[in-house]
Amino acid sequence: MPELPEVETMRRGIAAIAGSRIAGAERVKCQRRPISIQPRPAALSRRLIGTTVEEVGRLGKRVVLKLDSGDRLIFEPRMTGLVLVADPPTREHLRFRLDMASGPIPHVWYWDRRGLGSVRLFTKQQFDERLGNGRMGPDALALSADELCQRLGYSRRPIKVALLDQRAIAGIGNLYASEILHLARIHPAKRCDLLTRQQWQVVHERMIDVLEKAILLEGSTLSDGTYRNALNQSGGYQSHHRVYDRAGKPCASCGSQIERIVQAQRSTFFCPKCQTKRRSELAFRP
Ligand SMILES: [Zn+2]
Repeated sequence: MPELPEVETMRRGIAAIAGSRIAGAERVKCQRRPISIQPRPAALSRRLIGTTVEEVGRLGKRVVLKLDSGDRLIFEPRMTGLVLVADPPTREHLRFRLDMASGPIPHVWYWDRRGLGSVRLFTKQQFDERLGNGRMGPDALALSADELCQRLGYSRRPIKVALLDQRAIAGIGNLYASEILHLARIHPAKRCDLLTRQQWQVVHERMIDVLEKAILLEGSTLSDGTYRNALNQSGGYQSHHRVYDRAGKPCASCGSQIERIVQAQRSTFFCPKCQTKRRSELAFRP
């Protein structure tokens, strides 16, 4: 968290800076553990000031500003980062500020409570080397069902774990993976190479449905309240969660109790009745 829908909401929240020139760029004085900023703040400001934002894009779970200098400025929120245009949840966790010379948005803020995120400026070459093809899978929203099947269908990993692999497919995290598999009625421990082509088709359809609906509702704000849109408002998808963080509560489809298991050190939530398992098909026997 935040995942594709939340980061896409952040991107949309600042999209109106496209075409504007950067007049200032500064690390905000902060008493907390410093976030990763690359290059050093003085060099970063020097390379940013005077450039124009050509495009406000997203790569998986990162907001990417393409500048007319050819550089890319990347905000990576990781666990608790936010890209805001106004009114931060707290002053003490503000980390970085961009000042725009013109246009409807005077400032873009990067805020991060735990401080695990980063602000990085890459040349085109650095960007391609670190985040280009081969390093990152295609965006979950830009992938066809056939491509999804080609990228994961050979894997012996459990499907829930494979969906989180950003090198295979970019943007899905722990929350939406559980939601997608519940709607697709597939057990999260089912091995990828045992899914049929038709099942991949269903996973793909549900993945697009879940992500698009979550974007429409501006993401999920969990009980910790951390995630906010660019205007510091809550998202709305949390009230549509079917399994995530609902262990012991009834399944919306069948009434059975939602269960929690741990896969690759992460919690997975699923319905044991809607997402049945046949032991012979599973990667492990819990
Ligand atoms: Zn159920």
